[in-house]
Amino acid sequence: MILIDKTLVLFTNNHHKVHEIKTILNLENVHILSYRDVFKDAVDVVEDGDTFEANAILKVNALPDHPDYIYLAEDSGIEVDHLNGGPGIYSARYAGPNASREDMCHKLLRDCYGAGNRDAQYRAVMALRFPDQSIQTFTGIVRGSLAHEMIGDGGFGYDPVFIPEDYDVTFAQMDEADKNLLSHRYQALMQVKQYLTTQKQRHD
Ligand code: IMP
Repeated sequence: MILIDKTLVLFTNNHHKVHEIKTILNLENVHILSYRDVFKDAVDVVEDGDTFEANAILKVNALPDHPDYIYLAEDSGIEVDHLNGGPGIYSARYAGPNASREDMCHKLLRDCYGAGNRDAQYRAVMALRFPDQSIQTFTGIVRGSLAHEMIGDGGFGYDPVFIPEDYDVTFAQMDEADKNLLSHRYQALMQVKQYLTTQKQRHD
């Protein structure tokens, strides 16, 4: 698939994610816009897939065919060993539809209270859909463990309770740039970047 003159359109309403994805991808000669920039409306898709990958694919497939747009959608969440990989695809809704980040973190801490094994990971799956409707997916994982209380003000979601492997601070205590270099989204986006760059080189 030819990358020249294509615009990468991000499927997300989450401004943290748009900012993070733009910063990490930092692709020369590729315009990166959010869905809202292009179509003005908010995106709404029922994420009823069984896996992160299925949900990411549902999202890119919900967007209208366009010869100049490559769509990028992501589905991500936290998987906790003590909860057999939960809340996983239910991460965003784990504490109810309009829960605050405090509600989400507190529910996770409650559900893992006294757990001997506090290992956890964030997983992100990115789906790219090209104008020829072909789809590629990429998975990024960052391992870590659950803190015993919320610590730190940065990031979003479960960041105040997630301590990445080999660190003794939560994602919410880290500089955004440091988190970006470790995150599950970073791991997946590096694969996206590599893939897009290879496609471009093939064309050059
Ligand atoms: P999505 O928007 O459907 O992908 O939902 C992902 C949910 O997983 C978010 O609402 C957060 O609760 C959680 N999540 C995913 N990535 C992160 C992260 O980097 N930090 C904190 N929480 C995250």
